[in-house]
Amino acid sequence: MTEIMSDPKADEMVEQFRQRCKEVGLKVTPQRVAIYRALLDSKDHPSAESVYRTVSSVMPSVSLDTVNRTLLTLAELGVAFVVEGTGDVRRYDAVLDNHQHFRCIKCKRILDFHCDEFDNIETPEFLKDKCTVLRSSVYFEGLCSDCQEQES
Ligand SMILES: [Zn+2]
Ligand SMILES: [Zn+2]
Repeated sequence: MTEIMSDPKADEMVEQFRQRCKEVGLKVTPQRVAIYRALLDSKDHPSAESVYRTVSSVMPSVSLDTVNRTLLTLAELGVAFVVEGTGDVRRYDAVLDNHQHFRCIKCKRILDFHCDEFDNIETPEFLKDKCTVLRSSVYFEGLCSDCQEQES
């Protein structure tokens, strides 16, 4: 069993996650914590499959179905979100700090970047009237530098 490295920021986020569960009356099970932790620790916007591989290596009793359901629960709780526009399997992100994404259409890598200007996108008036906007994001798509090299 590989011990997950202790990262003070991650520990703090796990604590917030526990609080959030309590607030909504959700049981803080070791499985839920392990799934959240695995998502926090992976910086590559993993799919449910990938989170499942990580978690099942330390917790063999966990099922892919549980991982799938838990990831969706995390998104509902607001401690993680589904990365938009991936077109294929859902990819998740537990980094709630302001950041934007670039997705490579070839290797499917999702890279984080941060540009201040994109943090506070003004909600258009017509949306304000009709809807409640919870989140907005800026998303770029194309070829990453590695794939671009291969192309040429
Ligand atoms: Zn690529
Ligand atoms: Zn991200």
